[in-house]
Amino acid sequence: MNDLKELTKKERDCLISIGQHDSEKFPLRLIDLSESLNIRSPTALNLVKRLENKKLLTHMKGMILLTGKGKSFYHEIEENHRILETLMVEYGMDLGKACLLSENIDYLVDHRSIDNMFVKLGKPIKCPHGRIIEQFHD
Ligand SMILES: [Zn+2]
Repeated sequence: MNDLKELTKKERDCLISIGQHDSEKFPLRLIDLSESLNIRSPTALNLVKRLENKKLLTHMKGMILLTGKGKSFYHEIEENHRILETLMVEYGMDLGKACLLSENIDYLVDHRSIDNMFVKLGKPIKCPHGRIIEQFHD
């Protein structure tokens, strides 16, 4: 499994933003990234360089793409996010709050804990947003 703990929150947000972008349709440029993260271009470039050093993305000819490792990190964070917010909503938290709170911890929680939560939740198929939870846990 990925060692997500090596990420900072800003790097996590950057990874998610790139992962959610449909690069098949439009190549993602630095300007798009800085707009979607609401940060200035030099700050975005700095983040991109850090993630590039961690081999999570490639930045070539102005185009930003996740590497295989970056995609794997992205999917794991998304999966963690869905399970965490499902848990919080299950225990009475409003979805908006659960989603925001999950963004702050979805890249920190270890895989084993996520698997345990998934099982205790009765192996949900979708998160409260209706997004699919992959069934790779057991
Ligand atoms: Zn959410």
